[in-house]
Amino acid sequence: MSTRSYHHFIGGEVVDGAGRGAIERRSPAGGRLVARYAEGTPDDIDLAVEAARAAFEQGPWPRMSGLQRAEVLNRLADLIRDNRERLARIEVEEVGKPIRFARGDIDGAVGLTRYAASLAMQMAGSVYTNIGAGKTALLTREAVGVVALVTPWNFPALILSQKVPFALAAGCAVVLKPSEFTSGSAFEIAALAAEAGLPAGVFNVVSGYGATVGDHLTAHPGIDFVSFTGSTRTGSRVVANTSRHLVKSSVELGGKSANIVFADADLEAAVDGALMGVFFNNGECCVSGSRLFVQSSIADDFIAKVVERSRRLKVGDPFDEDTDIGALIDEQHLAKVAGLVRTGIEEGAELALGGKVAGGSAGHFHEATIFDRVEPGMTIFREEIFGPVLSVTRFETVEDAVRLANDTAYGLSNYVWSKNIDTVLTVAKRLKSGWVQANTVIDGAPQLPLTGVKGSGFGYEMGQAGFEEFTQLKTLLIHTGPRAPVFPV
Ligand code: NAD
Repeated sequence: MSTRSYHHFIGGEVVDGAGRGAIERRSPAGGRLVARYAEGTPDDIDLAVEAARAAFEQGPWPRMSGLQRAEVLNRLADLIRDNRERLARIEVEEVGKPIRFARGDIDGAVGLTRYAASLAMQMAGSVYTNIGAGKTALLTREAVGVVALVTPWNFPALILSQKVPFALAAGCAVVLKPSEFTSGSAFEIAALAAEAGLPAGVFNVVSGYGATVGDHLTAHPGIDFVSFTGSTRTGSRVVANTSRHLVKSSVELGGKSANIVFADADLEAAVDGALMGVFFNNGECCVSGSRLFVQSSIADDFIAKVVERSRRLKVGDPFDEDTDIGALIDEQHLAKVAGLVRTGIEEGAELALGGKVAGGSAGHFHEATIFDRVEPGMTIFREEIFGPVLSVTRFETVEDAVRLANDTAYGLSNYVWSKNIDTVLTVAKRLKSGWVQANTVIDGAPQLPLTGVKGSGFGYEMGQAGFEEFTQLKTLLIHTGPRAPVFPV
């Protein structure tokens, strides 16, 4: 593909914006210039918020029936599906993820958009008739208004689709700030939404850096709700921004999830789950099962199998259909991952596989890496590495497994492998995370909400709960018939 150039998309128009510069995106897998995104300024954000406000207050979108909004969203889903290969290749170029996972992301985006279309039809409130004679209360559900959406670089099209169609289904108007590393698919999907019939100004995209446009957007007084996905550090900054104007927010942040394997699990499936848990999407995945806990009685054999299969993973060109691990997002991130691997060695974890930067200067590749005998005091047990690095810790009892899994500042997801339903439920109930999955890993469906606890944030994404984030309940209490005076003077 040739180098793509993107300008802001504001009020239904492609606009140059106030900024003069462009952000150059080089492929993490070889350095080729793959895209340029307009470098936004606070003025561009102001324009986009203004356009969204006008579309929300005066435009047709929030006033359309759920059926009409669903029709537009279903057309958008069709267009994303029809452009599957093109969008997947954009994700590969900009993110460095293997092509087969990028295609999965686009399929996920289609599914999320179709599900959001169905929610547009189901947006409803409730009625109370049991609150006293002559009284009826209507709880109506309304669009929350103009929403600011900020997304990270690891799943650009997919995470966008966990937010944008849900906001649109509710009747909101959107200003999206995608990651400065991977803004291409946001502009592509905004253009497809316009082609699907979305009115001008309902879906605006401004590209640029987080510290300038992201910060200005999330602190903007013209915004009614902020939905953010990214690191815990940025998330707390975003919450500080929204609290200035008492704006509601949802923040989906980092993770350090446990993947717990009991001796009575289907061990073949659990070995595959261990690999999927940490090597999916190059390990650049918020719900990655980066801490593997294995029950001692099976640990030696199980870990040997995980190491043996991981050794066969192919690291390299993300466009190669056989590649399992592509390039990390950029040089700084690769250096961070490599630095944490060095720290793991220095702090005494046992390196069982990999441990090195791979591929020379042609790209930001890192070998599949596994550390055994990782202790809770070690840095690699605690920090989100966000790369293809697994830490393995052995445990004896259910009690140990729960204590170790919960020994983290994060609380996004956890995984349990056991054929014993008693073990699964006992452990699942005690894990402190928004998501628990048993005998599967990094699984999901548009109907299932994602949320974090502790340092992984708050608020919901996807599912009915994720949709309701973009709505506001209004209580309408109506009195009919004679009303006894309260001050009969
Ligand atoms: P990041 O926090 O660096 O950036 C995320 C987004 O925030 C980007 O668009 C960035 O430009 C913007 N941003 C940066 N500074 C900002 C500011 N001051 N105000 C407003 N916006 C600002 O995160 P990242 O490196 O892009 O993504 C990786 C992180 O995201 C990891 O920690 C990962 O776990 C997390 N993540 C979480 C989920 C989830 O659902 N919980 C999903 C994917 C990624």
